[in-house]
Amino acid sequence: MHVLILGGTTEARRLAESLAAGPPAGLRVTSSLAGRVGAPRLPPGEVRVGGFGGAEGLARWLGEHAVDAVVDATHPFAGTISSNAAAAAAATGVPLLVLRRPGWAPVAGDVWHETGSLEEAAGLLPSLGRRVFLTTGRLGLAAFAALEDLWFLVRSVDAPQAPAPARMEVLLDRGPFTLQGERELLRRHAVDVVVTKDSGGQATAPKLTAAREAGLPVVVVRRPPVPPGVPIVPAPEAAAAWITARLHRGGTPPDPG
Ligand code: NAP
Repeated sequence: MHVLILGGTTEARRLAESLAAGPPAGLRVTSSLAGRVGAPRLPPGEVRVGGFGGAEGLARWLGEHAVDAVVDATHPFAGTISSNAAAAAAATGVPLLVLRRPGWAPVAGDVWHETGSLEEAAGLLPSLGRRVFLTTGRLGLAAFAALEDLWFLVRSVDAPQAPAPARMEVLLDRGPFTLQGERELLRRHAVDVVVTKDSGGQATAPKLTAAREAGLPVVVVRRPPVPPGVPIVPAPEAAAAWITARLHRGGTPPDPG
């Protein structure tokens, strides 16, 4: 049985690691990365890098490589590859599971402003603060480029390119981040508003706690929807169970419930 993991996330890597640690007999795993990050943390096992060429290209790849099941473990905001995976699975009949970490939810003391897009987030910012901690990734900076009166601390894995805000300091870093580190960062840069995607997970959540403690507003960009009709699990363990159950039964995967 050949499983394709669409990756680029901690969860995808953990799934590949758990399958590599005690591989059930007869299981072949290939992880796929988009190739956006200069020096990605590679998962164990076979890895391929680069786009497939849309839903049709992915469907063709599944056929050419005799893939029996696909786990879409991409980032919650990687909406294109997720809809491509759903279309390719529907076209080929290859079973598809979405592995998606749960989103964050506000708790008492949080001052969240939820928006549907980066552009909407940018529109809100001038009413919320002047010194922005922007953690939405280097590829969406164009949405904030026109905000010339605001100062931005941009944290990203790789260096951003124009268009980007004129008044910007870049911090190249990759999670996980600590609460103490995030407290210190907000204080040192006199941040008065934080912008984040609802990425979910523990690795980047401490900024939310630090913002709450400091009484700062947080603009939270909501996730795009998961393609309808595709089963979803929240953790790598459940995805591994879906794969092994399918391997052992050789038939329709169980409903992950
Ligand atoms: P996207 O907008 O959904 O995808 C754009 C195109 O990139 C896709 O159409 C596909 O090209 C290619 N692609 C994306 N993920 C791929 C994968 N795992 N393997 C092979 N090709 C892939 O995705 P994105 O937001 O640019 O994210 C790219 C990658 O970075 C994803 O793997 C995601 O898990 C990871 N990531 C994204 C974010 C984020 O905030 N968006 C954050 C952390 C990590 P073709 O159409 O040519 O197949």
